[in-house]
Amino acid sequence: MTGGPVPVRRDLGALEGYHSPQVDVDVRLNTNESPVGPPAQWLAELTQELGRIPFNRYPDRQATGLRQALADWHGVDIGQVFCANGSNEVLQCLLMAYGGPGRRVVLFEPTYSLHRHIARLTGTAVVAGRRTEAFAIDEGEALALLDQEQPVITFLCSPNNPTGRAEPVGLQQVLVQHAPGLLVVDEAYGQFAPHSALDVGVPVDRLVVVRTFSKTWSMAGCRLGYLLADPAVVSSCAAVALPYHLDAVTQAAGRLALRHADAMERRVELIVSERERIAGVLAAMAVQTWPSDANFLLFRPTGKPAGAVWEGLVSRSVLVRDCSRWTGVEACLRVTIGTPSENDRFLAALTETLEEAP
Ligand SMILES: *Cc1c(COP(=O)(O)O)cnc(C)c1O
Repeated sequence: MTGGPVPVRRDLGALEGYHSPQVDVDVRLNTNESPVGPPAQWLAELTQELGRIPFNRYPDRQATGLRQALADWHGVDIGQVFCANGSNEVLQCLLMAYGGPGRRVVLFEPTYSLHRHIARLTGTAVVAGRRTEAFAIDEGEALALLDQEQPVITFLCSPNNPTGRAEPVGLQQVLVQHAPGLLVVDEAYGQFAPHSALDVGVPVDRLVVVRTFSKTWSMAGCRLGYLLADPAVVSSCAAVALPYHLDAVTQAAGRLALRHADAMERRVELIVSERERIAGVLAAMAVQTWPSDANFLLFRPTGKPAGAVWEGLVSRSVLVRDCSRWTGVEACLRVTIGTPSENDRFLAALTETLEEAP
């Protein structure tokens, strides 16, 4: 019996999956991961812990140990913490619970493409506000848009991927007070930045802060993210998540990682100082750059097409992210901050590429 391929949901149409091309190179600076792994001591503790996990049993469905550890770390109540497989699953749960057909979210492009993507997967309409030339959100324009669209979720990404800046505290305060629904602030790079939505100092019953272990905690291989929010939001997310979605190994890995927060903070300090060093060098090169509060820098080659520069870097075994076809960051590339020696390789490769005859 052949009836041909079964058509997918009509509203998904030609939707493509998330795609970040990988190329086999020496220096991978394209996905904003940490250039170094978590501490050896963490791995030793996790290995020991594995021996204590009853693998024939389902994991703790409430992830109590992990959520309590996160609550203690942030000084909040366990009822304000929801954990999932990466912040992407956190975002998916939020959109399953609050989005869906007939509902809208607002975001400000250029921003993290997964916000739009996951919204579409859940049948939620997406309205995109614009940013200024300097990638800032205009407060008046943003408020008018919220007024007009009445979104159930307003997304901020702070620091914003791929442009780099944390949203100003004042703007976050205004948006959390005026958003008609939830204000979801994706702080995947929060610890690299000088301030967090957690310090905005206003009633926060509509504020949702999303964080991940993928970047600052050096644990992208583990898939762990969480949100801090009002207990009602936490319950709604728990209600739409699959039962036992968060496995026992991931729960233990995250709980034990928090014991090594000092090592995390030292890694973050090194990356921030390397970021400033690279920004200083780029300032003297034939590229336009923007200040960053994250672990990456966006830059636009001024004398050569971005695609040619990307290829020149790959031919020198350095991989950066080609954003040149993303809306709003045309002709730009994004480089993740690596170890000092990786960064030297990048800077040398970029210098050679820019000086090379076309
Ligand atoms: C990298 C990144 C994430 C991480 O997603 P995980 O699913 O936690 O790995 C989330 N948000 C933004 C803006 C990112 O850049």
